[in-house]
Amino acid sequence: MSRRRQVNRAVKTAKKYPIITAVIIVLVLIVITVFAVMYFLKIGPFRPLPDGAGTFVPEGSSAEITTADLSVHFLELGNANAGDCTLIKCGDTEVLIDAGSKRDSTQTVKDYIDKYCTDGKIEYVVATHAHEDHIAALVGETNKNNGILYSYEIGTVIQFSQFNTTSVIYNRDYVSAITYAEEHGANVYTALQCWNNANGAQRKYYLDSENKISLNVLYQKYYEQKNSKENNYSVCTLLTQETDGGTYNYLFTGDLEEAGEQSLVESNSLPKCKLYKGGHHGSSTSSNDCLLEVIQPENIAICTCAGTYEYANKPSEDLPEDKAKLSTFPTQKAIDRMAKWTDKIYVTTLGILNPDYSTKNPVSMNGNIVFYYAGELKLYCSNNTTVLKDTDWFKANRTWRGN
Ligand SMILES: [Zn+2]
Repeated sequence: MSRRRQVNRAVKTAKKYPIITAVIIVLVLIVITVFAVMYFLKIGPFRPLPDGAGTFVPEGSSAEITTADLSVHFLELGNANAGDCTLIKCGDTEVLIDAGSKRDSTQTVKDYIDKYCTDGKIEYVVATHAHEDHIAALVGETNKNNGILYSYEIGTVIQFSQFNTTSVIYNRDYVSAITYAEEHGANVYTALQCWNNANGAQRKYYLDSENKISLNVLYQKYYEQKNSKENNYSVCTLLTQETDGGTYNYLFTGDLEEAGEQSLVESNSLPKCKLYKGGHHGSSTSSNDCLLEVIQPENIAICTCAGTYEYANKPSEDLPEDKAKLSTFPTQKAIDRMAKWTDKIYVTTLGILNPDYSTKNPVSMNGNIVFYYAGELKLYCSNNTTVLKDTDWFKANRTWRGN
């Protein structure tokens, strides 16, 4: 059919159904008007990214990290499992937040720590919650007593105030490892004790001699109230650093989920953050709008093995692959929420899948991700510094809905 005929037919149809045609025209005009208003008011999809979010943190070098004032490392864990391990280094003072993901990560984590911790002492260990992917390498391999808590002099442990789990790795092995550390001089406190400055515990710990860099234990109500989700017991900490360019904030929330995030926001006056550890490995249950709208993260590091079905339903007859894969970590939903604030999202590891959707092996995505301050904030990654949305994995598996 020629174009002219098509037009004639459309006009005839419109004349035949004048009310429907009018309604369609009005609807189209409304949609155009709404988008035009959003464009001029710079809201909705036209809202610009916050200050600083458009500029990349300059790329650094591994050599510079050891002498930096402060460095925050998100570790690869040597296997294809999601898990957290964050090492913070400030001079000779180290903070280790969690050590997952499995018992066989122990040597990988220790080898990494040994590159930066040269005095055999980890001043602070934060255990966010009792899940294996956060405590496995603290405990070590089965019956070997070779985890972090056995292998280093430990200054202070800040741990979750509650647990539900009946797992062996927590109830037998973690408890034994903590007892060992305590018997060898460690102070062991709960996050709630820290928040209350009780029993010698502190809400704020300075990491440097000039009191410019501090680790702050935040409050959220599930330190005291019971919740069916172990993740909501996560200890939340804010690292703050006074720099010539103002205060830099770095937020760590473990696997805290929405109810916990809501409480965290209500209980603390959270600042805008230079860096946020993407909650719960990029799960859809975390990094909710209520939190991100307050902290407006400029950079996000996610500790996970991207694309595996470890915590997602595998494709099946009822669940087509294109739908199923959106729930693998980091999830489309969490990325959509993060994308409102920044495109500087980094992910440690990528899983290579077998045809049956089991994971064959892990490869580095960004690899070990290190943000460090040496006169300015810089980024070093052991593999590359490609932001998530520009990776081949993202292009094949996700949609970018940010600006
Ligand atoms: Zn976890």
